[in-house]
Amino acid sequence: MTQHIRIFDTTLRDGEQSPGASMNSAEKLRLATQLESLGVDTIEAGFPAASDGDFEAVSRIAKKLKTTEVAALARTSVNDINRAWEAIQHAARPKIHTFIATSDIHLEYKLRMSRDEVVQEAINAVSYAKTLTQEVEFSAEDGSRSDRDFLCRVFEAAIEAGATVVNLPDTVGYAIPHEFAELVSYVKEHTPNIDQAVLSVHCHNDLGLATANTLAAIDAGARQAEVTINGIGERAGNTSLEEVVMATQTRPNWFTMNTRVKTELIYPTSRLVSMITGIIVQPNKAIVGANAFAHEAGIHQDGMLKNPMTYEIMNPETIGLSRNKLVLGKHSGRHALHEHLKEMGYDLTDAELNKVFKRFKDLADKKKQVMDEDMEALVAEEILRTKEIFKLEYMNVTSGTTVMPMASIQLSVNGRSIKGAGYGNGPVDSAFNTIAKLSGTSSELLRFSVSALTGGTDAQGEVTVRLREDGLVALGRGSDPDIITASAKAYINGLNRLEYLKENPVTSAQAV
Ligand SMILES: [Zn+2]
Repeated sequence: MTQHIRIFDTTLRDGEQSPGASMNSAEKLRLATQLESLGVDTIEAGFPAASDGDFEAVSRIAKKLKTTEVAALARTSVNDINRAWEAIQHAARPKIHTFIATSDIHLEYKLRMSRDEVVQEAINAVSYAKTLTQEVEFSAEDGSRSDRDFLCRVFEAAIEAGATVVNLPDTVGYAIPHEFAELVSYVKEHTPNIDQAVLSVHCHNDLGLATANTLAAIDAGARQAEVTINGIGERAGNTSLEEVVMATQTRPNWFTMNTRVKTELIYPTSRLVSMITGIIVQPNKAIVGANAFAHEAGIHQDGMLKNPMTYEIMNPETIGLSRNKLVLGKHSGRHALHEHLKEMGYDLTDAELNKVFKRFKDLADKKKQVMDEDMEALVAEEILRTKEIFKLEYMNVTSGTTVMPMASIQLSVNGRSIKGAGYGNGPVDSAFNTIAKLSGTSSELLRFSVSALTGGTDAQGEVTVRLREDGLVALGRGSDPDIITASAKAYINGLNRLEYLKENPVTSAQAV
């Protein structure tokens, strides 16, 4: 009989801890809706005690989702647990996720607590959370570097206190697959009441082994995997959802268990995450990278034409990689647009819909077919934006083989229009120089990249920038059929995100 592997998605919590990946609450809500459609079992929506912004986002997600469990992270303090509960109390299926470190190095240098004190702290936190809600997950931070017997002792106490899931994190990405599998087996054998809880694992990718460790743990008896879309997360990231799901799906003879994820939504979800966070997926990334499917490379074409299975272990359609998904055309009306956006998970007000409809008509005039990717980009720009301090009102750029590139730009700064012009090494450089001058920013441009949203020469250009100011890093993105305009939009979006970050700093509070 096929056993079920629970998928616990932490894109909104651990994923958000990626440098520069902060999302605002409208963006988080959109992503949570998509994750619910994708079919994950639990969505970790955030860390409510970390900031008011996080609290608000978790609370909105909790109210919105209908079927998926919504988890909130909390340290073991009563205050953290209360904040977590306040944020998720209206969820259809709430869960409190509390954690404390169990490795000697953390006990000695970070917590300054004895092992007995840590056990008591875990018991207190789980028991208290249990008085608020039925579903409680307990994590032993730095579990993979903890003393095995102590780990079992903490898990036993947490389960005794009412934890329904116990999670074994490889917080620092130190484990090796065989060793990690052995640890999971050890925990299963030496925690007397382990059958009363789900054993979960949470891996990081510092050695490139997060997926391998997670799959080894599943083989050894873990029944929940904690993952993020595209593997985003602190440092080298977390285990990637799409890799774990497709490994179990593609190798059913090896893995006798499966997940409930609707694989055909993997690619659209990956796109959405990269669009919202501005973190581009590397082309050779497994499953969702642009080069992930052999038929794109053209090298093995002969064999591919004879039988795709010669070089392709997965069918691209399985992950929803259908490039030509026509959504709407030039003649589509307001109602059709509204219906389509609702299906995508956007609840727009009339005013928002009017804005999007106008942009859609403009785009449909320039581009014959408007794809799902275009609609996501458009809504992301019009609706999901953070409060816009800077706004592009007008831009004219001249460039060519015989003229010096020059940009004239009108920018609105806090509602006040200002104009200026400037030169540069090329059209993008001249536009950026002028915007920098008008906005008065002291930020530094760390990265600039351009890609096409869909195929064809009329495709929209998608530009991502990475900016740094006073130690804060923000990503900005913009799309437009004109890549100079897309670049200016991306730069301005990055500046707005920097302002947002200054007001809502992402706390570096240690977490699992
Ligand atoms: Zn983590």
